[in-house]
Amino acid sequence: MEVADVLVIGGGLAGWRAAEAAVKSGASVALVANGAGNSPDIHAINVPVRDDDSVERFVDDTLKSGRGGCDRELVEVLCRESVKLAEEFPFDRNPDGSYKLLQPLGCSVPRCVSIDHKIGAWALAKIRRELAGKVEAIKGRVTALSFNSQLSTFSFQLGDDDAAGEARSVVIATGGWCGKYEFSDNPPELRGDGIDMAVKLGAATRDMDSIQYEPTVALAPAKLRGIPVITTMLFEGATFRNKDGEEFLADRHANKDVVSRAIFAEVEAGRGVDGGVWFDATGVPAELLDTVYVDTVKRYAAAGVDIHKEPMLVAPAPHTSLGGLVIDAKCRVLRVDGAPIPGLFAAGEVTGGIHGFNRIGGNAGTETLVFGKMAGEEAAKGAKS
Ligand SMILES: Cc1cc2nc3c(=O)[nH]c(=O)nc-3n(C[C@H](O)[C@H](O)[C@H](O)COP(=O)(O)OP(=O)(O)OC[C@H]3O[C@@H](n4cnc5c(N)ncnc54)[C@H](O)[C@@H]3O)c2cc1C
Repeated sequence: MEVADVLVIGGGLAGWRAAEAAVKSGASVALVANGAGNSPDIHAINVPVRDDDSVERFVDDTLKSGRGGCDRELVEVLCRESVKLAEEFPFDRNPDGSYKLLQPLGCSVPRCVSIDHKIGAWALAKIRRELAGKVEAIKGRVTALSFNSQLSTFSFQLGDDDAAGEARSVVIATGGWCGKYEFSDNPPELRGDGIDMAVKLGAATRDMDSIQYEPTVALAPAKLRGIPVITTMLFEGATFRNKDGEEFLADRHANKDVVSRAIFAEVEAGRGVDGGVWFDATGVPAELLDTVYVDTVKRYAAAGVDIHKEPMLVAPAPHTSLGGLVIDAKCRVLRVDGAPIPGLFAAGEVTGGIHGFNRIGGNAGTETLVFGKMAGEEAAKGAKS
């Protein structure tokens, strides 16, 4: 392989979005990935499209949900740039032309848009189609990344091979590390490799003790174990019940961290069911279940559970890494002293600071699109300079 202008490590939405932006900027791009990561599961993303919504309100909700742990500058970039996504993506609309919106926990108004309930898979397929033949896509696990100061290039290793290729700039988009946990809704290849590689090149990290639990991950039936159930159902009448059938959680619209703690407390008090609780969607109107939540309905029906009539057994599971690499508002990876590492960029779940200590559902997908694009553009610029 020739020296690529840009090497993208990671084939989720942040990685492919970076590749797309770098190609559009005129760079030659190689992308290495050992799986698809979490991105195909992205159901919906946050974009402030409603008349009573605004960038300021989006910023405010994100900072409040982040419990004091957000980097305000990154949050402002996320929310400001998200608005442009409405010009780029054909988000689903109602017959009257208004956007079809869901309200995630932590959003003060409905803000979650989608395309056919699976915007992650939709966007990945679209980008990959458009980039066919324009990106050198390599299957494999990058095991080491090093910098050759004489040539000003990065070399990477695949598996046990010696230098598999070289590039002038690198975008790390390897996602988080929640795949390391036994009960998680992440695939096992997500183990924080990109963080290890960048740290060896001098990168700083933040909030590495911070992950988000998804409150409603299926414990049973066995074939659904580890698959999450979307929490927006709580706005449509779903409730939590303990082993005695009692409803708990006074504020069903609380943030995910509060909901997860309430479930753990119920289990610890001996009122759980096999380490979890019942998530009861029987109060959600059938017409909503059969349209907006039809994928969940079908998934459970195939496993012998009719969620119109029966509750789902769920427990909180590690879902999103909140900490990660420290980046600036141009996606440059920073050293501990705050200086950028030349040629090294990062985007997506591998980075820290955007969601603080509690991420709003829908903000991660927005993050991959906004920061993936920026990382690709900046990496292409970096390669040329
Ligand atoms: C079940 C589920 C549902 C979700 N739903 C939503 C939602 O509806 N809305 C929302 O906003 N967020 C959602 N999220 C969160 C969101 O999916 C992630 O935060 C987001 O997809 C992260 O994108 P990414 O591109 O940074 O990483 P990922 O999509 O996880 O991709 C990481 C990539 O890096 C690759 N990789 C890792 N290590 C290496 C290595 N050493 N060498 C080569 N490649 C490597 C992986 O194989 C993968 O291709 C959900 C998460 C889960 C688990």
